[in-house]
Amino acid sequence: MNKKLKVGLALGAVGSLVAANMIKAAKFVPEKKETAPLEPERVNVERYTQNLSDAIKIKTISNADADKVDWSEFDKFHSFLRERFPLLHEKLSVEVVGRASLLYKWEGKNPELDPIALLSHQDVVPISAGTEADWEHEPFSGDIADGYVWGRGSLDMKNHLIGVMESVETLLEDGFEPVRTVYICLGHNEEVVASPDNGAKQMSALLESRGVRLDSVLDEGGAILDINVPGVLDKNLAGIGIAEKGYCDYEVSLSAKGGHSSSPPNHTALGKLADVIKDIENNQFKSEITPIVSAIVDKVGRNTSFPVRAVLCHGKALKPVLNVVMKNIPAAASFVRTTTAVTMASGSPQANVLPQKASVAVNFRVMPGMTIADVKTHLEKVIRNKDVEIRLIGGQEPSNVSPTDSRAFKAIEEICTRMNSDNIVAPYLVMGGTDARNYQNICENVYRYSPFLLDTTLLTKTHGTNEKIAIASFEDGLAFFKRYIKTLAGC
Ligand SMILES: [Zn+2]
Repeated sequence: MNKKLKVGLALGAVGSLVAANMIKAAKFVPEKKETAPLEPERVNVERYTQNLSDAIKIKTISNADADKVDWSEFDKFHSFLRERFPLLHEKLSVEVVGRASLLYKWEGKNPELDPIALLSHQDVVPISAGTEADWEHEPFSGDIADGYVWGRGSLDMKNHLIGVMESVETLLEDGFEPVRTVYICLGHNEEVVASPDNGAKQMSALLESRGVRLDSVLDEGGAILDINVPGVLDKNLAGIGIAEKGYCDYEVSLSAKGGHSSSPPNHTALGKLADVIKDIENNQFKSEITPIVSAIVDKVGRNTSFPVRAVLCHGKALKPVLNVVMKNIPAAASFVRTTTAVTMASGSPQANVLPQKASVAVNFRVMPGMTIADVKTHLEKVIRNKDVEIRLIGGQEPSNVSPTDSRAFKAIEEICTRMNSDNIVAPYLVMGGTDARNYQNICENVYRYSPFLLDTTLLTKTHGTNEKIAIASFEDGLAFFKRYIKTLAGC
């Protein structure tokens, strides 16, 4: 074969590959979905804004030590709800569960059907000492300014709680009568990790004891994020949390003789522990492109513009590359593996004393499908120094993974896409814990999604300084709750 012919054939082969790729990319478009706009929904944004602002003023701060909680603030919050949502309190029954959780029941016309539940938590996290002055508006002012409602709880999650209450109030005013029973479950200590008297756990146990099985649960967790990568993607990504990671803390320690620091061994217990830390950090958990990540890449990829779409259309073939890329970016790595963070260390109590015991605490965020016990097995395998002692400090197993073909998931998806054709809906893995996991005993379809459009910069303000929410997101947020209840409890 002469040179020219070879080059010609090679070019031809490349040409057909490019053409095949173009065809594949051209077919890689958003799935056909019902996109006809929904009938308008009556919402009262002004009333909601005022109620949210006033709700933020009530300092429902939870604390790991229940004795340190100002319970009068929770009493105040309960009275506030009664006063602001009169129709709801007339038509729904309510009982206080545990210390201050509220369980509302809106009786449906057909008691044969499994009820739905809408969750929220009343509590908020405190303001970190020394950061009060960094707030542009006082953290519990509930100020309405510059197009935002400001303050602790505006994103996590009085916005959601007042949104649910407001929507039910409006539905009652509209004369809506649910076919299925609707529960509203308002926990009082979600922010206290692993609280022994978790309000959500008590409410779900109470429902279980009454023989209730839930059709679906909706809680916080995912949100609608305004994603704008110039020239690539300009859409809103609605992430519906279908699972949440678990977490656990292990203490890894080494013992030694101790003694005076004037005659030390070459390596003290703390020195030896340095090698242990390296073993732990150098042997990260295996990463994996899970079905959730694949689904996000697929849904987002279909909406990107051409050069990027031509790459992302190769779904399966792309997995190994994607895995390498994601595990090397900390924020992305948390989606594909159980993460490891060595966070605390201790040695001797004084500089001139050799440590008799040296220890580190390691925090793990556990992928669904793995257990806290698996984490220990991993540590035992990768730490070469077999004199270490490994002790579980505490933790919470990852949640189950909820299906994406349930009535509830489909309803969220359809409402989101029909409300705004720029919304892309994808399943999502929630990194932090929510109350939702406590309802797994009575429900398979547990979803974590808050229907307020957020600018991605606001995400860092949850639990942080200058927490605030845009008033522009309220109308759609409230309409979502109404539609969700009408769709799921209306039949
Ligand atoms: Zn929260």
